[in-house]
Amino acid sequence: MGGPRPRSAPVARAGPAFCFAGLQGRVLLGSMATSSALVTGASRGIGRGIAVELARAGYRVAINYAGNLEAANEALRLVRAAGGDGFVVQGDVAVAADRDRLVAETQAQFGRIDLLVNNAGVGPKVRADLLDSGEESFDRLFGINLKGPFFLTQQVARGMIAQEPDARGFRGRIVNITSISAYTASINRGDYCMVKAGLSMMTKLFAERLAPHGINVNEVRPGVIATDLTAGVKAKYDKLIIQDERGITPIRRWGTPEDVALAVRALAEDRFPFSTGAAFDVDGGFGFFRL
Ligand code: NAP
Repeated sequence: MGGPRPRSAPVARAGPAFCFAGLQGRVLLGSMATSSALVTGASRGIGRGIAVELARAGYRVAINYAGNLEAANEALRLVRAAGGDGFVVQGDVAVAADRDRLVAETQAQFGRIDLLVNNAGVGPKVRADLLDSGEESFDRLFGINLKGPFFLTQQVARGMIAQEPDARGFRGRIVNITSISAYTASINRGDYCMVKAGLSMMTKLFAERLAPHGINVNEVRPGVIATDLTAGVKAKYDKLIIQDERGITPIRRWGTPEDVALAVRALAEDRFPFSTGAAFDVDGGFGFFRL
């Protein structure tokens, strides 16, 4: 109806309120030497792997830990060995005063936060049936795995909005480490599944809210990864992944922290500049239907 639109007609476009630096900015940036990241739960496991991989990418890293200073110092040593630098900072992400300190110390050390990785997370101390699991476990998991990341993201995002875009046109990036449990029902740890599903929704909410400010928010969704968190269920998953005739994953091995870290690095290096609110599966193929 009405024939073709004249080629010169203006096209309404809901574009972001920031400008990309363009090709020249990308070339000039070359190294990410001045970029800085705050990684929660970076002393061990997946978080440590992320810290080291970000160091390889030239990031300076604030290595957050809850109680294990020795492990945090070892993570810092590995970060330095990988050619990066950073510092360790204690803080329980479930505690408001600790989150304030995390952000304040990172800002004081680096001047800005280019990347927040919400990685810190815990499983239930006891895997209890859905009909028996208690409020204490629910509150613990809710506090560390969802409330903490939500309010930390809120706080860091305010700072990112206030800072100038970097050479690639982004004011910051946020990556949430969720889980296949965000969509997989395990009735012996329903609390964990519920908070991971919540973290997945949180990714979309912040992606929508922050896109106009040049901040992409994405989710990396690990499958079964060999860390302290899964050490207690090693025999169970050895059977499910490797020994059973047809494993739960087409790729018949445990995932490693490095597998997850490489995905986070790709996001940290803006390899997916047009992706936000997206979930990146690092799960050996766990997540699709097979027949
Ligand atoms: P992990 O080996 O048990 O390491 C947990 C890390 O989180 C440690 O650095 C620990 O610090 C820190 N942490 C624990 N509670 C904290 C708190 N309240 N505040 C700040 N930091 C805290 O666990 P992981 O396997 O690497 O898991 C990392 C993330 O990946 C979690 O969100 C987990 O849900 C998710 N994930 C893991 C798997 C898996 O198979 N391993 C699969 C899917 C998703 P300290 O060293 O000081 O205790």
